[in-house]
Amino acid sequence: MQRLAMATSKTFKLNTGSAIPAIGLGTWQSKPNEVRDAVKVALQAGYRHIDTAAAYGNEKEVGDGIKDSGVPRSEIWLTTKLDNPWHKRVPQAIDNSLKALQTDYVDLYLMHWPCSTNPDNMDEVYKDWDFVDTWREMQKLVGTGKVKNIGVSNFAIKNLERLLNDPSCKIVPAVNQIELHPCNPSPKLVAYCKEKGIHCTGYSPLGSTDSPLYKNKTLISVAKEKGKSPQQVLLAWGIQKGWSVLPKSVTEKRIIDNFALDDFELTEADIKKIDSITERFKVCGDDWLPKGVKVFFGDDE
Ligand code: NDP
Repeated sequence: MQRLAMATSKTFKLNTGSAIPAIGLGTWQSKPNEVRDAVKVALQAGYRHIDTAAAYGNEKEVGDGIKDSGVPRSEIWLTTKLDNPWHKRVPQAIDNSLKALQTDYVDLYLMHWPCSTNPDNMDEVYKDWDFVDTWREMQKLVGTGKVKNIGVSNFAIKNLERLLNDPSCKIVPAVNQIELHPCNPSPKLVAYCKEKGIHCTGYSPLGSTDSPLYKNKTLISVAKEKGKSPQQVLLAWGIQKGWSVLPKSVTEKRIIDNFALDDFELTEADIKKIDSITERFKVCGDDWLPKGVKVFFGDDE
């Protein structure tokens, strides 16, 4: 079990030697007119990690928010992601992201999904190009100064095995960003990543929009005992399990509350209680991808 003390300044060491801050602001579904302020509020509240993606359509406003905050770029961990229709055009994709984000580099560049789609027909998956090819191209970015670390997202064990066993794979992904909350705890996948030296970042750590977790009696009872909100307990649970977490909010008070984690810690018993939750749901499954594409195989559970 990881200690939570000073969660807000806690970092996790990656296989590259870089240190990723344990708490990052999520920005999926944060509308361009909301995200600029959300990023500014978060950075001014002490967050030093922002997660975005080309697919979110808000990189420009994320960049604006970073500028507005007055926090030096060098103090911020910035992650963005390669979108599926750009897998054959990695150099252009990163340049577009950097331009929108108004920065020279990102700290982490992730392959958003192991799925390469034709930009002229988003329902069509390339037959002559897949994530191994994409990774080959992403590896070329390391050393250009445009990306400090590269990683993947939504990779289950089967696809990680394929990637790691391919002779073209020279760089082990630094991070696998995956859905992690008590109703999708993925112990096998987390253990596999740990064994391979891949840090996990947990997305949808609160259970995403209209989270069913907030009605969970076990979670509510732990939160009551601790005198903390269910959201704070969910974030503490993730960090103490050993992964970084990306709570998204565009609401000032929530952004600040989600970062107020330094004055408590879950005990082993609290964590066991939360681990005992048996309800299951997944926010992002194969249905996000073109029909017939499968990237989750049960080995991510
Ligand atoms: P989260 O689990 O972070 O939940 C976000 C929802 O919770 C929003 O509706 C937000 O509302 C609400 N919320 C936040 N804080 C509180 C609070 N203290 N009290 C009550 N409600 C609260 O969901 P996401 O799915 O957005 O995941 C987080 C991030 O992970 C994303 O934003 C994105 O950066 C990343 N992600 C990556 C994916 C990938 O494929 N790699 C897929 C999904 C997410 P409001 O904003 O209105 O305050």
